[in-house]
Amino acid sequence: MIAMMRFVIPALIGLFACSGGSNAVRSDEGQEPSEHVAPVTDPVADDQWSRLTEDQWKERLTDEEYDVLREEGTERPFTGEFHDHHANGTYVCAACGQPLYQSSTKFDSGTGWPSFYEAIDGKVETEVDRTLGMVRTEVHCSRCGGHLGHVFPDGPEPTGMRHCINSVSLDFTPE
Ligand SMILES: [Zn+2]
Repeated sequence: MIAMMRFVIPALIGLFACSGGSNAVRSDEGQEPSEHVAPVTDPVADDQWSRLTEDQWKERLTDEEYDVLREEGTERPFTGEFHDHHANGTYVCAACGQPLYQSSTKFDSGTGWPSFYEAIDGKVETEVDRTLGMVRTEVHCSRCGGHLGHVFPDGPEPTGMRHCINSVSLDFTPE
């Protein structure tokens, strides 16, 4: 009997672990009947970015960009284009081109991801992220909803915040 319990209990734990979490359906999908919405065409108007379908995003983005921007993936640290990038200019959303961060707010966090203590006013939004057994603050582009990274309260002055951003989610416009 004890031997049987040893087998059954880990199996049950495995079942529960697999049933939750990362594959949850996004709550913002499917709210508008697509047959009544005009298709989004290029150039995309400012208020149309949030209406692009996932198929349209797949056409616009590389596989790596899609994984991070649309599926909230994370690039490996010290592999991105901008973690050790020091030019003056503006970092823009790789998905829609909206300016997000000024180089003057970038700092070396030592994490291997580009880090900023402040976003350009109104250009990013945050929400609570409870995946991976942690409670974190997810940050995304306010125009297209593209996932950028996470915000942590351990950054430098003057804000004390650290916006930990994937290079893949950014493009750079030099001054
Ligand atoms: Zn964007």
